[in-house]
Amino acid sequence: MATTKNSSSFKIIIFLTIIVFAAITIFVIVSNNNNKEEGNEVVFDNQPSTEGQPILGDDSAPVQVVEFGDFKCPACKSWGETVFPQLEEDYIDKGEVQFSYINVLFHGDESKVGSIAAESVLDLEPESYWSFHKKLFEAQPANDHDTAWLTMDKVNEVAEETTNIDPNDLLEKMQTKEVIDSVNEDITLVNDFKVKLTPSIMVNGKMLEDPFDYERIKVLIDEALAGKE
Ligand code: CA
Repeated sequence: MATTKNSSSFKIIIFLTIIVFAAITIFVIVSNNNNKEEGNEVVFDNQPSTEGQPILGDDSAPVQVVEFGDFKCPACKSWGETVFPQLEEDYIDKGEVQFSYINVLFHGDESKVGSIAAESVLDLEPESYWSFHKKLFEAQPANDHDTAWLTMDKVNEVAEETTNIDPNDLLEKMQTKEVIDSVNEDITLVNDFKVKLTPSIMVNGKMLEDPFDYERIKVLIDEALAGKE
């Protein structure tokens, strides 16, 4: 049983490596989204499309906050546990901000496993997505995050705690073209928005210089809200 699971994990990683590398090559060539520096932020002409992305908050919320994150990244775990709860309480819960999350794959095979697992959960059971997302970050060891932890076993453990998805269905979904396409769409956005670090946080098209500067995030949101009045 364990051998079958490991071999499936291995096949997924090989498959993804091929697809993802092809995608990076294509998108580096075609990436074209004008941007300029404005104060401390880089401002883009277009905001990332949230179509097909996990979304939290009111559909009619006037301000869009996007996180470019990686389940393997320790700073993303920290952002989610310190900055995000304030954002949620101050703006998302009040219907003023719609939050979405885009996968970044800067940490090798574990980023790939985490991102395709998350996209699969989103597809199979969207209502469980954020519980899975939160729990997967919680599963990241606070110390020694470099040692491999984001494995299929961990994905299954977190999925069992947070979803009703059968492990076989999850594994099957993780190998589908639609899920690989979703991960590749995220890679396109990462390239289009010139993401170099995780987490990267955007408020209505403005990329924060310091994602942990919550006071600055508030200023940008409040300015955007005032502009919509
Ligand atoms: Ca996505």
